[in-house]
Amino acid sequence: MAQIDGLPPLSEVIRTYQLSAKKSLGQNFLLDLNLTAKIARQAGDLAECDVLEVGPGPGGLTRGLLAEGARRVLAVEKDPRCLPALEQIAQVYPGRLQVIEGDALEVDALQHLTPPIRVAANLPYNVGTELLVRWLTPKDWPPFWQSLTLMFQREVADRIVAAPGTKKYGRLALLAQWRADARIVMELPPEAFVPAPKVHSAVVHLTALPAPRFDADAHVLNRVVAAAFNQRRKMLRAALKPLGPDMEDRLKAAGIPPTERAEQVSLEAFCALAREVAKT
Ligand code: SAM
Repeated sequence: MAQIDGLPPLSEVIRTYQLSAKKSLGQNFLLDLNLTAKIARQAGDLAECDVLEVGPGPGGLTRGLLAEGARRVLAVEKDPRCLPALEQIAQVYPGRLQVIEGDALEVDALQHLTPPIRVAANLPYNVGTELLVRWLTPKDWPPFWQSLTLMFQREVADRIVAAPGTKKYGRLALLAQWRADARIVMELPPEAFVPAPKVHSAVVHLTALPAPRFDADAHVLNRVVAAAFNQRRKMLRAALKPLGPDMEDRLKAAGIPPTERAEQVSLEAFCALAREVAKT
């Protein structure tokens, strides 16, 4: 049966181009175009935007983004086997899909994009987390992106939106919530993917705030939070020792009891601490 875009169903695309899923590339494909259109709608109004899609695979989400009206999609895919399937999509949407073969961790996609830019991706867990941290920690703000709509393992999604005082609260929550609004907008069972992964997944939508919620240097905050949660069960005066000899005083100056554990400390207090640490 032909789809809304006149292209063949994704199961046929996978057969035609022999895209057997590779574990080494974290390939769990979405084959239901209603579902990929739904994910694309979570990315917001795409009509005026360039969309950076990382890991398009056979193109389910790509087709969703284009059908939902994205001005342009720039897709970065590491697996060369997927390129003919993506080329077929590009022909149906002339001038609106550019594909770059390469590793998203190395490709400089920005030079091919025109603002406003949104990012959408269903990526392997490790690549997704590393890219998310990069996208959240540029020195200057606002970043190149207006929003990020990203699929994660449910457990990682929970860590991004976690509140202080909970087990999942940590570096990801703090970096995400410091300069963005982060929400879980969809939950997906393993059966939504082919092959089905072992765990549940969720889509997280992050919108860049015009300015950080609290003043701090991104690099310093990142270092402080990484050290604090690296030894999350220790009191902060011990966990932060690697950052310098006078951390107890700096904690006090930031209004944080040195005996507190990282899990209990709010974003506002971590930013105050980062400002203290940045002082020479
Ligand atoms: N977006 C497709 C979908 O939803 O069906 C595919 C999702 S699959 C979970 C992840 C995709 O990311 C695969 O196509 C894989 O080849 C690609 N990929 C894995 N590592 C990558 C990397 N470092 N850079 C770019 N693409 C990558």
